[in-house]
Amino acid sequence: EEIRGKIAAGEVVERPASVVKELVENSFDAQASYIRVVIKEGGLKEISVYDDGEGMDLEDLKLCYHHFATSKIKNLADVFKIVTYGFRGEALASIAQVSRMSIASRREGQDIAYQIEVEGGQELNIKPVNLKKGTVVVVRDLFFNLPARKAFLKSPKTETLKITEVVKGLSLSHPEIRFELKTQDEKEKILFSWEGGTLPRLLQKITGIDQKYFKEVRLENPPYIIDLILTDTSYTLPHTKYIWIFVNQRWIKDEKIVKILLTALKPFYGNLGFPAGVVFIKAPYHLIDVNVHPAKWEVRFRDEKALHQLLSSAVEKIFSEKKF
Ligand code: ADP
Ligand code: MG
Repeated sequence: EEIRGKIAAGEVVERPASVVKELVENSFDAQASYIRVVIKEGGLKEISVYDDGEGMDLEDLKLCYHHFATSKIKNLADVFKIVTYGFRGEALASIAQVSRMSIASRREGQDIAYQIEVEGGQELNIKPVNLKKGTVVVVRDLFFNLPARKAFLKSPKTETLKITEVVKGLSLSHPEIRFELKTQDEKEKILFSWEGGTLPRLLQKITGIDQKYFKEVRLENPPYIIDLILTDTSYTLPHTKYIWIFVNQRWIKDEKIVKILLTALKPFYGNLGFPAGVVFIKAPYHLIDVNVHPAKWEVRFRDEKALHQLLSSAVEKIFSEKKF
């Protein structure tokens, strides 16, 4: 039973970057306006994520690392969302199983913050601590009890790169949130720091492409809404590395959607190259399928033709509104 739990957890938690993604998404859900990620040895030794969000009370804190512990199902509509959106209440439980974790949190409006320590899924202790606001989750020694899994991880340098990529992508889904990512090895080093602001400025920061090259367009075609922020043919790239896709504010990686986008761009781009930018798709949950494996990033649209048409129209709109 215990071994099975650990193996299952090892599938949910692929590597340090997947821990960072889950923890930061929790900070988003807690309405944070500031998130700080600090890593040691590429996150293999330690990952800590602080947010100034709404926090947890003592009762929540005791529950949060158990399986199926989620505070995010409040009504039937939520249950439906969960069915189509993927696992709920599994992230902290999985991470707790394969690490030494501590969570300190202070619920808004309460005078005391508490910290709980969990090792390999077992609670060690719980005590009051000093914390003004929000939550800090510290994950140490990832896979300490799953050596086979640990052996698959890359060097701290590679894991650091992956974490950096994940933090940047996540921040694009919430450009208003202040973000910081740093390493704390022999020397402290800031890998990413964003004071919060507009999406074009954040895109400029992440891609190095001047924000003047990005064009925005919104297309509302009920029940879908698409927001495109892309460079047009005045700035092309030889790769698709700088295209990010978000469905219902959740960052996904789906080759199929990228392909649909590129097909829509083809009449304008020909063989010029690729744009940089962000695609936000809003769709009702009953029109999408999310692969329920938490480590997966895929989303299927029930009606891919409709999605193609939408993206084509949005792309056309960008190219017809010549306001450079
Ligand atoms: P889920 O996000 O699907 O609910 P998780 O395992 O990621 O599941 O988190 C479990 C629960 O722990 C959340 O539902 C939430 O109540 C609480 N929680 C986790 N992280 C935070 C945070 N940073 N701030 C406030 N509450 C949190
Ligand atoms: Mg979560």
